[in-house]
Amino acid sequence: MAQPVVGRGVPNTVRLALLRGRAWVSGRWVEAASGKTFPVLNPANGELIAEVPDMGVSDTEEAIEAAHKAQRQWAALPCKERAKGLGRWYDAIMANKEELAKLITVEAGKVLRESRGEVDYGASFISWNAEEAKRIEGEVLSSLVPGRRTLLVSQPVGVAALVTPWNFPVAMITRKAGPALAAGCAVVVKPSEETPFSALAIAELAHEAGIPPGVFNVVTSSRDSTPSVGTTLASSDLVRKLSFTGSTTVGKLLMAQCASTVKKVSLELGGNAPLLIFNSADIDQAVAGAMASKFRNTGQTCICTNRILVQRGVHDEFVEKLVSAVSKLVQGNPFDESSQQGPLINEAAAQKVENHVNDAVEKGAELLVGGARAEELGSLFFRPSVAVGVSGEMRVTCEETFGPLAAVMTFDDEEEGITMANATPFGLAGYFYSGDPGQIWRVSEALETGMVGVNETMITSENTIFGGMKQSGLGKEGGRYGLREYLETKFVCMGGIAERPVD
Ligand code: NAD
Repeated sequence: MAQPVVGRGVPNTVRLALLRGRAWVSGRWVEAASGKTFPVLNPANGELIAEVPDMGVSDTEEAIEAAHKAQRQWAALPCKERAKGLGRWYDAIMANKEELAKLITVEAGKVLRESRGEVDYGASFISWNAEEAKRIEGEVLSSLVPGRRTLLVSQPVGVAALVTPWNFPVAMITRKAGPALAAGCAVVVKPSEETPFSALAIAELAHEAGIPPGVFNVVTSSRDSTPSVGTTLASSDLVRKLSFTGSTTVGKLLMAQCASTVKKVSLELGGNAPLLIFNSADIDQAVAGAMASKFRNTGQTCICTNRILVQRGVHDEFVEKLVSAVSKLVQGNPFDESSQQGPLINEAAAQKVENHVNDAVEKGAELLVGGARAEELGSLFFRPSVAVGVSGEMRVTCEETFGPLAAVMTFDDEEEGITMANATPFGLAGYFYSGDPGQIWRVSEALETGMVGVNETMITSENTIFGGMKQSGLGKEGGRYGLREYLETKFVCMGGIAERPVD
């Protein structure tokens, strides 16, 4: 069963039935060839949850081989059979929703109510793609030459490597694995070293659902071993696709490494989302949208609002209401049902928020609430914070803060707001609140982001696309476009066809 020795990172009151302490390769729980393991800590209390294998190059090669062996048989199944397998996997995930949510909470520090939401969201990519598996189609083109027929057929790309971050430890895997398996690919998942347990749990559930050995593999590795695992995945000829979600820095590195084998690459990278509030906006709605977008997952989502740009006419009203809402946020043990804000993922993350606050204040911003760690709760808890008078040269406007700091800037007119919003090399999500229909069209068209929320900040769902422009990424996830990322379109020309005589 591969159940590990549990450390003090697991609260006494919590039993984790799906906790697995080995990697999952070729339908078996395995150790690293070296026998090495690494510790995974609970960010809420800094204590050990359990150890997992610290895998390296040979382990990764073994997982790639396993996926390669399994892929052709999986692809050869009628699409309806693959759809049924995905359907059973969805059912298994939903039947274990509470167990998965607890794992997310213990390893990512996400508050339990949000972890449950992540399981729903993550599972939706499995059920959506179970349906889509039945709609993988080709085309018959009109022939330009007599005696020929011209076809376009869709085929799976082959083995796909899926490298995923810690902030959505279930959903970032299922958003890739759902379409990959639907298309007929087999996958090697490399989850974040911070959150391997959610990945191993969904491997267990894939197994229970009858997904064949080798189709879904999970390789775990420590921060030190990860670069060699990444290079092995990126440079293997057997891996035909690499899909990565994470920071822009690592995305660029993997993209360069994939060039050696000209792999198909999808990149879901960092963002620097602007949220514009125009004078015509409904301010209560805008505050609710800002709260949801800025503070979800304690500010640690790639589409979290990073810069709040408020038109001068509504600035004071908006800020007053925002500060009031932020002051009411409940911070605490992420397992408590009342908690709305948990810890940050690690010390580097907490230091980054601290640095952004200090840098902004040094450069003239004013802190209205928060601005420091909530040490009484634990070293990684940072108080929800609001800074006003923020300007373009501050780090908080140039880099993803990835934490609970709302940075408010001011603009005078629509053109200035758009220019400020687009003044970043990133382009993942952008949001704005406006009551003016003409402005809604103009601003939607002008924002240089892959996703735009108009009078709404909770914009994602399985039937639409997720993806960025500029340095926020390449390719799309979700909807029918997400499935195409795992398909090759092959052209077949059939010649020598005797035509029927025409009178
Ligand atoms: P990260 O880039 O540090 O790590 C992501 C994954 O890459 C992890 O599995 C990590 O182990 C692995 N990795 C790290 N170095 C590697 C290397 N040299 N070779 C191969 N793999 C390597 O990112 P993170 O801190 O886990 O996640 C936060 C980042 O992810 C933020 O920038 C956030 O915006 C981004 N993100 C983007 C999306 C999106 O859909 N665009 C979604 C969630 C998170």
